Amino acid sequence: MHSPQQITILGATGSIGLSTLDVVKRHSDRFNVFALSAFSRVDELAALCQQYLPVYAVVADEASARKLTHLLDGLDTQVLFGSESLAYIASHESVDVVMAAIVGAAGLLPNLAAAKAGKRVLLANKESLVMSGQIFMETVEQSGAVLLPIDSEHNAIFQCLPNGRFDQHTGVEKILLTASGGPFRQFTLDQLNSVTPAQAVAHPNWSMGQKISVDSASLMNKGLELIEACWLFHCSADQVQVVVHPESVIHSMVSYVDGSVIAQMGNPDMRTPIAYGLAWPERLASGVESLDLFEVAQLNFEKPDLVRFPCLKHAMESFRVGGIAPAVLNASNEIAVSSFLSKKIAFMDIPRVVEGTLNEIENRNVDSLDSILEADSLARTVSKKQIEKLDGR
Ligand code: NAD
Ligand code: MG
Repeated sequence: MHSPQQITILGATGSIGLSTLDVVKRHSDRFNVFALSAFSRVDELAALCQQYLPVYAVVADEASARKLTHLLDGLDTQVLFGSESLAYIASHESVDVVMAAIVGAAGLLPNLAAAKAGKRVLLANKESLVMSGQIFMETVEQSGAVLLPIDSEHNAIFQCLPNGRFDQHTGVEKILLTASGGPFRQFTLDQLNSVTPAQAVAHPNWSMGQKISVDSASLMNKGLELIEACWLFHCSADQVQVVVHPESVIHSMVSYVDGSVIAQMGNPDMRTPIAYGLAWPERLASGVESLDLFEVAQLNFEKPDLVRFPCLKHAMESFRVGGIAPAVLNASNEIAVSSFLSKKIAFMDIPRVVEGTLNEIENRNVDSLDSILEADSLARTVSKKQIEKLDGR
């Protein structure tokens, strides 16, 4: 019997963080919670600490840390704050597994710290790979970290590829990246102009955090995922085809030269890819019910519409251009989505802000992590200006 694996969960209070804890709790003989992090939900993090008794808990700032320390009075959990502390719990020598489930660019530095320290990195935070794909993959290669995709599509592709990579010697021809199409799949352009944040976050099949829900509605999520797939599996954008599949039962597919298409299927519940990442190369019960094909009854497929969903087009174009463009796209999208959520801009302004920002910032090569962080920061400033301009319409 092995001693339990020590796990750090970055973004423990989020949708992926809570699903991870749900799986971990079912296998307390195999996993022990070493550290948890949260940004603003201090009360929720306190409750998780009471339940899982981690060695460390990390929050955003000193005031939150003080509040958490007070709430955890009598517990041995050490409370830390700030982004260096996130990197600390992600790379601590006692840690075996890091669940990277912070949303957005804020995940980049702690995820890189985990990769550099050679951990088993369960990657939910796709934004970090979109921003820094080359540096991230090189870091993983150099340290011997084990990078396992948690994004359901990439987890599916990983399961359908012979060696977890796009190796043409094994007859792999194409990745078929499925997309639900989101809540607005059948909306006209006219209707899309007036959709609300509440409509956008109501995803038909998946229950997720707000930002990824809006990204799913705009198809930016699929654009980010296409870039994520190219880095993870070492393939080019034209070897990945986006397929809209509204039932979200096939989580993605791989097509081979002999005409075979291998799909990974299951109920849309993130505990399946999380359990796969935790147990790989073994399998673990995740709490997800097995798929009832009679209930599913039908599987449908459509081509994505780049006119109604231009975010997908901008993401593909940014990856084709390369350099800092994907980091600019990502940062700009984060600003635009948060402005949409706070009702400052309309849904169809999201692609406008992203496109405007990409056009305004001169592209250049990525020569270091600093160039990515600078691009991220510049894109945020430029996007905010774009939004002010839209405000004055
Ligand atoms: P969420 O909004 O539910 O949770 C985000 C977590 O990150 C929270 O714990 C929050 O406290 C923390 N956080 C937010 N901002 C932070 C900051 N600036 N610094 C430190 N921590 C911060 O999001 P989610 O839906 O769980 O998604 C998390 C990541 O996983 C995203 O990158 C998303 O794209 C990816 N992902 C999610 C799903 C899903 O089903 N939810 C599926 C695939 C991929
Ligand atoms: Mg996904």
